[in-house]
Amino acid sequence: MRSICTERRLDLKPDWLTADTAYGTGKLLAWLLGQSITPHIPVWERYPSSDGMFSRSEFIYDAERNVYVCPNGKLLRTSGTVHDGRVRNYLSQPQDCRTCTLKQRCTRAPFKKIARDINEDARNHARSLKGTQEFERSSNARKKVEMRFAHLKVQHGFERLRLRGLTGARDEFHLAAIVQNLKTMALRLIGPPTRRPSAAMA
Ligand code: SF4
Repeated sequence: MRSICTERRLDLKPDWLTADTAYGTGKLLAWLLGQSITPHIPVWERYPSSDGMFSRSEFIYDAERNVYVCPNGKLLRTSGTVHDGRVRNYLSQPQDCRTCTLKQRCTRAPFKKIARDINEDARNHARSLKGTQEFERSSNARKKVEMRFAHLKVQHGFERLRLRGLTGARDEFHLAAIVQNLKTMALRLIGPPTRRPSAAMA
């Protein structure tokens, strides 16, 4: 992982790390917490609620019994098998669902399935950080940096590297950064360019 390289090569280890939702996977969040790095990263929610059906949060996880309790008070259990190296499935009993008055708001299948990330505890921890002052401060700092990259991409057409290899990438990126910094400097020292009247108006 990049953080390990940074630690080994530069003797730098962050106390916290910020990134966008694409990095908010259970695996990465758990790894960061295992390294004692606080993740200021929004959790990647894979199960958005949809069209009036029960949302995921309406199924309560009971850690002691390792079951989910559905809105009708029935239990969803797991065999413990890990699927795709990522989730355990918790299933309701079809006989419970068959006679349930809430079924229309719950599932179109004969039973309900909830997939729980094997790193759900890490995801919950990351969720609990959102909204704290530290989290918001990190997010704002991240957005400032990302804006510079977005600007390079949109305003300067810097969408891909044309030179090959690490040296090529470094040189090309340095040139782009020099252009961006010169532009920022000119804007601050001289101000934005004045608009010339168009030929039609002249
Ligand atoms: S359909 Fe099944 S899982 Fe859904 S609320 Fe009813 S009993 Fe619970």
